[in-house]
Amino acid sequence: MTQAAAGAPWTLEGYEAVIGLEVHAELLTRAKVFCGCSAAFGGEPNTNVCPVCLGMPGVLPVLNRRVVEFAIRAGLATNCTIAPRSRFARKNYFYPDLPKGYQISMYEAPLCTGGWLEIVVDGVPRRVGLTRIHIEEDTGKNIHDLVAGGSLVDFNRSGVPLLEIVGEPDIRSPAEAGAYLRALRSVLQYLEICDGNMEEGSFRCDANVSVRPVGSSILGTKVEIKNMNSFRHVERALAWELRRQVRTLLAGERLVQETRLWDAEREETRAMRSKEHAHDYRYFPEPDLLPLEVSPAWIEEVRASLPELPGARRRRFEGEYGLSAYDADVLTQRKDVADFFEAGVAAGAQAKEMANWVTTEVLRIVREQRLDTQLVIRDWPITPAQVAALARLVDGGQITRNTAKQLLPRLIGTDDDPARIVEREGLAQVSDRGALQQAVREVIRQCPEQVAQFRAGKERVLGFLVGQVMKATGGKANPQVVQELLRAALSPERNG
Ligand code: ADP
Ligand code: ZN
Ligand code: MG
Repeated sequence: MTQAAAGAPWTLEGYEAVIGLEVHAELLTRAKVFCGCSAAFGGEPNTNVCPVCLGMPGVLPVLNRRVVEFAIRAGLATNCTIAPRSRFARKNYFYPDLPKGYQISMYEAPLCTGGWLEIVVDGVPRRVGLTRIHIEEDTGKNIHDLVAGGSLVDFNRSGVPLLEIVGEPDIRSPAEAGAYLRALRSVLQYLEICDGNMEEGSFRCDANVSVRPVGSSILGTKVEIKNMNSFRHVERALAWELRRQVRTLLAGERLVQETRLWDAEREETRAMRSKEHAHDYRYFPEPDLLPLEVSPAWIEEVRASLPELPGARRRRFEGEYGLSAYDADVLTQRKDVADFFEAGVAAGAQAKEMANWVTTEVLRIVREQRLDTQLVIRDWPITPAQVAALARLVDGGQITRNTAKQLLPRLIGTDDDPARIVEREGLAQVSDRGALQQAVREVIRQCPEQVAQFRAGKERVLGFLVGQVMKATGGKANPQVVQELLRAALSPERNG
């Protein structure tokens, strides 16, 4: 077996991975796609419904213009061509959550085609092709665990607008699949058209995967994996499935094209059904809707309204602030986090210092408080100015990094100025040699054993002694100065 590095293509026993992802993204429009019902998530079952989204006979769909605008935004942001004329189609199948017996989607004439998305794995950028993006309506939701011996259907989700984003089979490892999903979610979040919540199902992924001999250009038999509700699950499911496929081939067996479900508890994929063919859906043009016409003027209007996108912002952060590719990537995945960073720099923080604070401490608070489930964080528990003030205090040598880290949680939910707390509580870093000398002498007196070890050449013990002095000074001593003083006090030349 070979173990590839995170950024390298996945290979095993002479086979390579071929992965193509299909993402369904729920759009954050107020109303549903073909009726005026609220598209909000949650709500008492069957309260956001009307004859249109319940599929009553004799009603007609009316297209929500905002949905088209959102789809154009997504298409332009992913380098697609926007078709001046596209068409809705009926996808026919029977399932209790689909009241009309068909889903309105797009088939032969999708709105967006031929785009690409830039992904970054281990700091190396790569492009993944996008086949198409089209508009469709979501289905209702079957609820199986509410009544014994039966299922219920909630139609609140029926008719919620979706984008289906179909990626080319350009992905070469589970890690790249994760990077692709993160990049795509990031773009949709920047556009403020989807909140990207995989657990709530507003961002769903089906993963198509096959293997082939390394270097071959022929596609192997693919398997479609469903039922993964986090990025981590997608990566784990793909890794598991890739190994299963290679083992099957090595055993001299053939792979079958099928749909498999990821079982997160047992950590394996299981066969669900063999893949139905496209003609099973009996697609045909939707007779109740006119072809969708999009004028060049509208496209240009939408283009002009696009924000700076994550890729461009990442490159700007590298160039303008001299950040590493890694830091720039972490900082720009969310627009609000990137804005936070830049607000800190504008408030006078040194860019690299601010980047350190945001990528470690601030993002930790964001995760702890589960703020990352919000589309845009507007009420930060700590302000960029406060973090910038901390960064400046450390950068200017007024307080130690240690003191700053202890201060940070105390700022949460307050509008305290860290500089004032430092002054009020006497937390300023002590760099004055005279003031520290006393503590150094005291520690040397209290730790004769470690002192002897250090003098006998055990360099590592110095760290321990520095730590003791830090402790004695309540973490306020300048560790650099302490180290110098200790060395001077313990050096053989001086004592010999
Ligand atoms: P289907 O007709 O089964 O929906 P498509 O050709 O429309 O198949 O492709 C659906 C998705 O599967 C796309 O994201 C595509 O990139 C991916 N895909 C297609 N063929 C393969 C393959 N051999 N291995 C991995 N992914 C594939
Ligand atoms: Zn409705
Ligand atoms: Mg398809």
